[in-house]
Amino acid sequence: MARIAIGGCQHETNVFAPYRAEYEIFSQRDEWPPLSRGQQMLNEVRGINLPVTGAIERLQALGHEIVPLLWCSATPSAHVSEEAFERISAMMLETLQDSPSIDGVLLDLHGAMVCAHVADGDGELLRRVRAVVGESIPVVACLDLHANISDQMVAEASVLETYRTYPHVDMSDTGARAADLLDLLLKKGLARFPVSATRRTDFLIPPVWGCTLVDPAKSIYQHLRRQINEEVPGISLACGFPLSDVPEAGPALVTYGFDETSVNEAADSLLAQIESRESEFDGRLYSTEEAVSEAIKLSANASRPVILADSQDNPGGGGPGDTTEILRELVLQKAQKALVGVISDPQAAQSAHEAGTGAQINISLGGKSGYPGSEPFTAEFRVLGLSSGRFSATGVMLAGADMDLGPTALLEIDGVRVVVASKAIQTLDQSMFRHLDIEPSAQEIIAVKSSVHFRDDFQDICTAVLPVISPGPVIVDLSAVPFQNPRLKHLASMA
Ligand SMILES: [Zn+2]
Repeated sequence: MARIAIGGCQHETNVFAPYRAEYEIFSQRDEWPPLSRGQQMLNEVRGINLPVTGAIERLQALGHEIVPLLWCSATPSAHVSEEAFERISAMMLETLQDSPSIDGVLLDLHGAMVCAHVADGDGELLRRVRAVVGESIPVVACLDLHANISDQMVAEASVLETYRTYPHVDMSDTGARAADLLDLLLKKGLARFPVSATRRTDFLIPPVWGCTLVDPAKSIYQHLRRQINEEVPGISLACGFPLSDVPEAGPALVTYGFDETSVNEAADSLLAQIESRESEFDGRLYSTEEAVSEAIKLSANASRPVILADSQDNPGGGGPGDTTEILRELVLQKAQKALVGVISDPQAAQSAHEAGTGAQINISLGGKSGYPGSEPFTAEFRVLGLSSGRFSATGVMLAGADMDLGPTALLEIDGVRVVVASKAIQTLDQSMFRHLDIEPSAQEIIAVKSSVHFRDDFQDICTAVLPVISPGPVIVDLSAVPFQNPRLKHLASMA
């Protein structure tokens, strides 16, 4: 039996987003638990789809003792503030320093965290943890499929283990796999695998085309699984998150094992597989106007809804979740049985709660971030329903997580209904509509603030998905991103 310290801090940073991640955001519940420590952390993460959860369950099943440090996350946004990072880092390290005879560390990180004062937030956290525990024990980290794996992360961690699915339905499984690799190192009395190999592509993958339910990503991750064997037990592939605009943003893979030739061959084979599929990371994008008219046309002959994916204002990529251009266009083109969600606007939600169900309210909805091209939608709405915004998720990815959207309202204008919440949270679970007594599958058109994750829970109820280019900072066309980093500027211009 070994004593394993476990903690986590997840943030995906889009430097082009309008808001920073302050400490307060990490301390709040959203679709994931609030910042929590010690026994409270174990209670909060129990039974949900998070790497930390899968790791704890697996390590306990293997007979190890868990020393909980701290777990927190914040909705993707611009930089993590210096204050937030330093407070979180200090709490994590304090518990680690105060815990005697630790045999291993397992961290649940995103891998695309950029802080106001440190470009490689995850690498820095790993460096600090390593400085506390030294080189003689394993330090394993789970990373998101959208991690920007840096040389510092590879150098400080004994193993990096990435998700293999997008939508990320295997977060908990990733934690379990990381736990198995940690256990393997402990059994062999090693702090690290003898050999590792890192490879990077010389192109970027726009996240919107990286869904693993379809090719090319589906085949690439199948290929990854086939390369794993006793000689090469650890293989990670992250597709990267270009909008972090850091020097090492983009796809990278790392292989770990015992035999130099096998480890390098597995890395080369996987790299060749990705490079051969480069041109397939592409697809049709629709303007707001085209998307709405196409959806009205398609839904006329369909028994299931057409989904408009409002990718560029996806809170899961740093969008404020409050642009209203698709909503406005649906009203303009007189769409019926259309549903829009989830728009974040605490003032509008409060107005609806004050007015009450059945009331007509005149409000300026959304468009408050000041993001270019995004305007509030000023109109009269009817309040159809109200909620506290607290309910349990029902899709596979969130696996029953207790969600908190803050005070929430269902509004209606000219046959178009819209869910307005008080927090910016990606629309990835049908419960975000259903808790207000509205059935998504009974609609003709649904516009969601999500790029790909909504497919986990909505794929089976829809007839088509149209990715929409509407205002927002989660820029899909990488050639339009104002990158500051010269490498990314160059790679985006080649796309
Ligand atoms: Zn991700």
